[in-house]
Amino acid sequence: MESQKQYSPQFSFEFFPPKTAEGAEKLKKVRAELGALKPKYFSVTFGAGGSTQQGTFDTVVDIQQAGFDAAPHLSCIGSTKQNIRELLNKYIEHGIRRIVALRGDMPSGMQEAGEFRYANELVAFIRAETGDHFHIEVAAYPEFHPQAANAREDLLNFKRKVQAGANSAITQYFFNPDAYFRFIDDCEAMDVTIPIVPGIMPITNYTQLARFSDMCGAEIPRWIRKRLESFGDDRNSIRAFGEDVVSDLCHQLLEAGAPGLHFYSMNQVEPSMAIWKNLGL
Ligand code: FAD
Repeated sequence: MESQKQYSPQFSFEFFPPKTAEGAEKLKKVRAELGALKPKYFSVTFGAGGSTQQGTFDTVVDIQQAGFDAAPHLSCIGSTKQNIRELLNKYIEHGIRRIVALRGDMPSGMQEAGEFRYANELVAFIRAETGDHFHIEVAAYPEFHPQAANAREDLLNFKRKVQAGANSAITQYFFNPDAYFRFIDDCEAMDVTIPIVPGIMPITNYTQLARFSDMCGAEIPRWIRKRLESFGDDRNSIRAFGEDVVSDLCHQLLEAGAPGLHFYSMNQVEPSMAIWKNLGL
């Protein structure tokens, strides 16, 4: 963990672009409340295959105009260089300085991979087109990406993104801090020392979490799963237990020197705020 201790911790929250006018209004309130915690930035996800391209753009510009730093996620799979170039230029025009650069996943039914195959190619393209304008974040997987050939290859592929010009990384969420600590040690052994900020998923809904974790390869440890299952539909108990477990996880990560936390807020204030308060941040 030595490489991470040199960075002062920074905190950020992730949103998804709202689909309705009502959702957009709600997000403004969420943003104002979480904004009071003075996060480094808010990031906004990008739908698979560019399905939310306009929504991501509008949400990012709105956040930026409200006086916060906003970082769009940008996935390259299925896209063209020209499309990415235009989007980058629009972000530059709107004063955006940070981008979360991803490969993304092909939406079902879409066949054409486009002009990019992997995120390292997108990072290299952003650097070639825009120099040092953007702070580039990339994704990291302490429990390894589900499509990776093996753990070693995945680590080497992560390094490719750093060599292509990534400044820092945000991890997929995890509930086992050892997975993160080992990942950092492996990175250090490969001379990868950029800040790797743990992505934090508050637990509020077990069914949704289980489905999502299966898809993205994040493990819910058995002892957590069994307890969550035992609460059935009792959402208050799920939340209370989840808050406790995730607060403990965050505490351990920060104590060990993690360079901040990135909250997957799901466009809600309370779950992230509760953890924040427990940590006494
Ligand atoms: P890559 O880094 O390209 O890796 C993908 C896979 O390919 C890995 O298995 C890797 O080992 C392998 N690989 C990489 N490079 C090579 C290479 N050169 N040769 C051979 N194999 C290679 N998805 C969205 O749709 N929208 C979002 O907004 C979004 N935000 C995210 C934010 C974070 C912080 C994280 C962790 C994930 C996010 N995702 C998002 C999910 C992400 O798009 C998927 O996990 C996707 O499958 C991989 O994207 P990547 O950028 O990590 O891909």
